[in-house]
Amino acid sequence: MEEYDVVIVGAGLAGFAAAGEAADNNLKTLLVEKGKTTGGTGNYVEGVFAADSEIQQKENAVIDKDKLLNEELTYSHYRADGKMWQKYIDQAGKNVSWLENHGVKFWLVSGLGTGAKTWHLFKGKGHDAIHNGLEPYVKSKGVEIVTLTRVTDLKQNADKTYAVTLTKVDDKSTSVVTAKNVVLATGGYLNDQKLLENTPHQNPNNIIPVNSGKNTGDGLHLAWNLGAKQYFTGMAMMFGGQLKSKKIPSFKLWGTAIWSSVCDQPQMWVNELGERFVDESACVVNWANEGNAMNRQDRVFCIFSQKILDDFTDKSFPRSMKPFVPEDRYPSLRDDIEKAEKEGHEYLHKAASLAELAAEIETPNLVEYVKHYNEMAAKGEDSDFHKPAKYMLPVDGNGPFYALELGVGAYTTGDGLRVNIKNEVLDTKGRPIQGLYAIGGDGSAVLYGDTYGVNVPGTHAGYCVFSGRNAIENIARK
Ligand SMILES: Cc1cc2nc3c(=O)[nH]c(=O)nc-3n(C[C@H](O)[C@H](O)[C@H](O)COP(=O)(O)OP(=O)(O)OC[C@H]3O[C@@H](n4cnc5c(N)ncnc54)[C@H](O)[C@@H]3O)c2cc1C
Repeated sequence: MEEYDVVIVGAGLAGFAAAGEAADNNLKTLLVEKGKTTGGTGNYVEGVFAADSEIQQKENAVIDKDKLLNEELTYSHYRADGKMWQKYIDQAGKNVSWLENHGVKFWLVSGLGTGAKTWHLFKGKGHDAIHNGLEPYVKSKGVEIVTLTRVTDLKQNADKTYAVTLTKVDDKSTSVVTAKNVVLATGGYLNDQKLLENTPHQNPNNIIPVNSGKNTGDGLHLAWNLGAKQYFTGMAMMFGGQLKSKKIPSFKLWGTAIWSSVCDQPQMWVNELGERFVDESACVVNWANEGNAMNRQDRVFCIFSQKILDDFTDKSFPRSMKPFVPEDRYPSLRDDIEKAEKEGHEYLHKAASLAELAAEIETPNLVEYVKHYNEMAAKGEDSDFHKPAKYMLPVDGNGPFYALELGVGAYTTGDGLRVNIKNEVLDTKGRPIQGLYAIGGDGSAVLYGDTYGVNVPGTHAGYCVFSGRNAIENIARK
């Protein structure tokens, strides 16, 4: 039976970071990927977090690390592990140099909104970082990569090595290899609806996964079967409203006038009762806020009048979207809505009157709430949520009226297993399970409370790199 120093389960961003570090340390390594292609959700990553990279130093972008640590702990309500965060923050700059030395190219260091400038953007996104950087490097150093092969079982042998069962995706044939160490890098469980429903996510049915579709919680199940602790914080990396469509993947609507007008403009959002639940303007600038507020509701609709639709198309909308939308209007919006109506997209509801619209979308308080909203708009004062007056557009006129149904997009989950400072997986008593590591999405519960902090961008992908290297450094030191 083939024996490896390390078997890495999952060839996404974290798996490749681990494989790169394993190659640097001349460990006999097998990287197993169930997909036809490698990269997983890592292919879509824009960039990684770092606080004192050479790139930042060249740009004189000085980041206060203590402030960052404090910000992340505060954002998580102190549910995050400060020790892990500190180690990660301290090593992140070196990880960017390490990536560059392993063929990964960056084009910009950026912030998100008013947040810290920590986001090191890959040239060609994660796809290029993996396929033109890390993957060729690890192959050149002899790391074995198998695709269309799923790790379906892990058993600990008497000598504490692991029997790793590999199942071919095509013909379901199996083989077993031995590993001194196993690193779980399967990217979390966003594509396992059952697991989503069994965790503390407020409304799992509202979550629309926007990822590779391959993050089915395998790493978590493999570890739990070995006695690992189930460790949930309810963290999905949410990024706000998505048009709820069964006909078309929601990400295909990103950047369209119809999507931007409901998710980027602080319009009236109502819940299943037909009542607002938030200051929409505080949400459109921070997609974790937007996602969390929406995820607390059963259903969410953005309510439009024909007048608003016409004004947004022909005249102007209130929140500038430059440079993404060059003018302060959406010239194609009316046409987009008509097209969606013709194509019968179920997210779009249209009715001649508000009462008919309320009946169609089953929101009992909508008519009454809109009346109240219009009175507040006339006074220029949102006594419910204090949305600035310039965003209080009355929903009135002759109709028709529109409701666009929204779900909450999510990129990844961030919990399920507890790891220690070495990324070893912990059992129910907090003891490490020998030779078992979890990294990336599988091992990131230590970083979060119930929310992904967006003010310090790139932290999840940066953690994939950090945790992958961290686990292997510990294996190499043994
Ligand atoms: C559009 C988009 C943009 C994003 N941008 C950013 C960003 O800029 N910054 C940031 O911090 N985060 C970002 N994220 C989140 C980021 O993509 C994830 O954090 C990251 O990809 C997680 O990496 P991973 O290695 O844990 O999982 P993945 O990259 O998904 O890799 C897991 C791999 O494991 C494989 N696998 C699963 N089960 C098995 C099994 N049993 N056997 C073998 N293989 C298996 C899967 O097929 C997959 O290839 C973004 C996500 C999306 C969707």
